[in-house]
Amino acid sequence: MAQIIDGKAAAGRIRDLVKDDVDKFRSVTHRTVGLATVLVGDDPASEVYVTSKRRLSRQAGIEDHHRRLSADAGQDEVAAVIDELAEDDAVSGILLQLPLPKHLDSKALIDRIPWQKDVDGLTTTSAGLLARNAPGLRPCTPLGILALLRAEGIDLSGVSAVVVGRSELVGKPLAQLLLQQNATVTVTHSRTRDLATVTRTADIVIAAAGIPHLIGAEHVKAGAIVIDVGIHRSANGLIGDVDFEAVSPITSRITPVPGGVGPMTIAELLRNTIQAAKIQT
Ligand code: NAP
Repeated sequence: MAQIIDGKAAAGRIRDLVKDDVDKFRSVTHRTVGLATVLVGDDPASEVYVTSKRRLSRQAGIEDHHRRLSADAGQDEVAAVIDELAEDDAVSGILLQLPLPKHLDSKALIDRIPWQKDVDGLTTTSAGLLARNAPGLRPCTPLGILALLRAEGIDLSGVSAVVVGRSELVGKPLAQLLLQQNATVTVTHSRTRDLATVTRTADIVIAAAGIPHLIGAEHVKAGAIVIDVGIHRSANGLIGDVDFEAVSPITSRITPVPGGVGPMTIAELLRNTIQAAKIQT
């Protein structure tokens, strides 16, 4: 029977470390650590995410600099808020909650965030630093997946990892981080032919396609490790990109949804925020 990877517990341990680190930073530098979450509009899922990011950062001793804009806020209005936060020394990190309303140019707004405050690791500069393996802030979900694998004592060197999805947020940066850990990485996407044949070669399958239950028993070889990034609301509560019931008996270890990658993403956001504060001093 598969071992369930407990993301909730691992995330709690990271948040405790961040809290200690924030306390130490404050006593050594006499400066506070602050996170600015910027929420535009009233998307209910985004509200839930921002609320828990703010709550958990406050618990870790990080100051809350939340900004709320209406759904019809213009490009210039959002840009002005980001510019103001970029100038504010009390703000260590800026998080622009995505997705933004459709009339806004997300990429242009993300790129207004200085890389030193880019706690989501999504600016063009942060992506370049990642590609070069240079110091910088990395996207939180890929960081959380690597931290989970590390917590499980999994040595990535030489293992075959198949990433399902190539988004800027998850798949692409994750593939780069895995490569930097010397995994042999294959990235699949919507045009991949015969996905199951590819994923069945993997020691580790990481599903980030945004399609409920895309990964079934036929996609996984016996004994593989399966990491499920997907989050979908269904009649039975939250479900992932992996059909947990069908896949878990085949695997050696698997993350649940909820309680797997999700809590790790927020824990890594907090870790990026203290990291950003250190970069700025
Ligand atoms: P996204 O931007 O929609 O990207 C999805 C990726 O999956 C695309 O690259 C797409 O390929 C690929 N894809 C689509 N259908 C596929 C198929 N049949 N086979 C293989 N690849 C396929 O999504 P995202 O932002 O990366 O998020 C993915 C999922 O993770 C979502 O469910 C999201 O809610 C969840 N998520 C969870 C967390 C967390 O903390 N747990 C964080 C972020 C996201 P193309 O490039 O060819 O279109």
